[in-house]
Amino acid sequence: MTEIQLLNPSTGVAIGTVVGLDLQATDQAIDRASAAFPSWAAVAPGDRARLLRRFADLVDANLEELAQLEVTNSGHTISNARWEAGNVRDLLEFSAGGIERLYGHQIPVPGGIDLTFREPLGVVGIIVPWNFPMPIAAWGFAPALAAGNTVVLKPAEVTPLTAIRLGALALEAGIPEGVFQVLPGQGSIVGARFVSNEKVAKICFTGSTPVGTSIMAGCAPQVKRVTLELGGKSANIVFADSDLERAAATAPYGVFDNAGQDCCARSRILVEERAYERFMELLEPAVNGVVVGDPSLDSTEMGPLITEAHKAKVSSYLDSEAEVAFQGSCPDGPGFWFPPTVLTSTDPRSKVVTEEIFGPVVVVQRFNGEAEALRMANDTPFGLSGSIWTNDLGRAVRVARGVEAGNLSVNSHSSVRYWTPFGGMKQSGIGRELGPDALANFTEVKNVFIATS
Ligand code: NAD
Repeated sequence: MTEIQLLNPSTGVAIGTVVGLDLQATDQAIDRASAAFPSWAAVAPGDRARLLRRFADLVDANLEELAQLEVTNSGHTISNARWEAGNVRDLLEFSAGGIERLYGHQIPVPGGIDLTFREPLGVVGIIVPWNFPMPIAAWGFAPALAAGNTVVLKPAEVTPLTAIRLGALALEAGIPEGVFQVLPGQGSIVGARFVSNEKVAKICFTGSTPVGTSIMAGCAPQVKRVTLELGGKSANIVFADSDLERAAATAPYGVFDNAGQDCCARSRILVEERAYERFMELLEPAVNGVVVGDPSLDSTEMGPLITEAHKAKVSSYLDSEAEVAFQGSCPDGPGFWFPPTVLTSTDPRSKVVTEEIFGPVVVVQRFNGEAEALRMANDTPFGLSGSIWTNDLGRAVRVARGVEAGNLSVNSHSSVRYWTPFGGMKQSGIGRELGPDALANFTEVKNVFIATS
C-alpha cells in the first residue's frame, strides 16, 4: 500500500491522503467482483433498474456535497462540478431505463427459431483520468452495472475523492458488496493489474494516448475487450459566412472550459483568411472576459490547472516558436494558475499545432476555402471532436462529414450528451460510450438456434 497526498489545486494546500492499493489488495477486490458477478447478473431486470435508480436518487440528494468535493480535489468550478454530479445521476437513470430494453433479435431461419441474447461480460475494469473524475467514471460504471457486469474502478491518483464517495453511495443504495468497488492507487499497479488479471473481462480506459496504446497491447494476449477514450487536438473551423460575433464570443468556452483540461477542447481555431482580422478583433475581448479565479464562486468560469507539474508542462509550450497574440488574466500566488492564452502559428509542424497541450492555450491559424480547412483539420493523428461555424447548411453538412472526428457540432461547441454516442476516431480512441448502445457495449452477443423439427 502507498499513501497518496492530495492537494487543492486552487490553493496548493494539502487536503488529505488516500491509501493506494497494492497488487494483492487489487487481486482480492477483483476476486470479490468475480464472485459477485453471477448473482448480480441474475438480479431480475426491474430489480436491477430499481437499485440503480435508488443510487441515482442518492447521488441527487448528495449532489452539492459531491460538487464541493470536486471543487476542492480537482479545482473544478462549482457550476461545472454541479453539472458533473448531475451527469452521474442522469446516466444512472438513463442506464436503469435500458435494462428492461436490452433486447435481442429473433431471426427467421428454416427448421427452427433463432434468438440472440446480450450476455454481460463479467468483471469490467474502469480506469479514469483526473480531468473529469465523476462523469468519466459514470460513463463506464452506470451502463456496465446496468448490463449485469460487476465493476472495479480506479480513479486517477490525484482525484479519487468523488469516486470513493460514489462507491459508498452505491452500497447505501443497496447495491450488493463486491458489485461496484472503487480502488484508488497507482496506474502502474492497480490499473496495470486490471489489464493483466484474467478475471477482468473488459477494460474501459480514458486517458492519454501513450498509456492507452500500452493498455491495448496489454489486453491483446487475452483478447480482452477494450474501449479507449484518448487525447485530442480538435479544430474549431470558422468560415467567413458564419455569425462571427457568436463564433468569437463562444470560442474561449470551447477550449478554456475546465482550464482547457478537456479531451474535446477545440484547441486549434482555423479561421477563413478573409474573416481573420475581424475574428481576432472580436476574440480578444471575449478571452479577456473569461472569469478566472476562485472555483467555489458561482460566477467563476475557469479554475486552476490540476498540479504544479502539469502547469510546468503547459508553460513549456510558450517557447520561442509560439507567438502569443493575447492572454487573459489569472490569480497570482498559491495554486496552479495559468491564464487563458491565444497563440498564432503559421508552422503546421510546430508543437503548439500538433500536440495536445491540455491547458488553457489555443492556437489560431488561417485557411483559404473548404478544402484547405478540411486538410488542416484532419492533419493530426487525433480525431475526437470539433466545431464548424457557417451559415451555409450544405457546407455545414459537407464539412461535418469530412472532418475525421467522432463528435462534431455545428454553430456550437457541444460534445457530450449522455443519450448520444461519444468516442474518438484515429488515435483518439476505439469504441463508443454513452448513447443508445451504451449498455450493449458491455455485453457479448450470443446466437442460439432451437430446432423445431
Ligand atoms: P493518463 O493516461 O496519465 O492516466 C489515466 C489513467 O490511467 C489514470 O487513472 C492513471 O493512473 C492510469 N494509468 C496510468 N498508467 C497506467 C498503466 N500503465 N496501466 C493502467 N492504467 C494506468 O491520463 P491523464 O493525464 O490522467 O488524463 C489526461 C488525458 O486523458 C488526456 O490525454 C486527455 O485527452 C485524455 N482524456 C480523454 C477523454 C476522452 O473521452 N477521449 C476524456 C478525458 C481525458
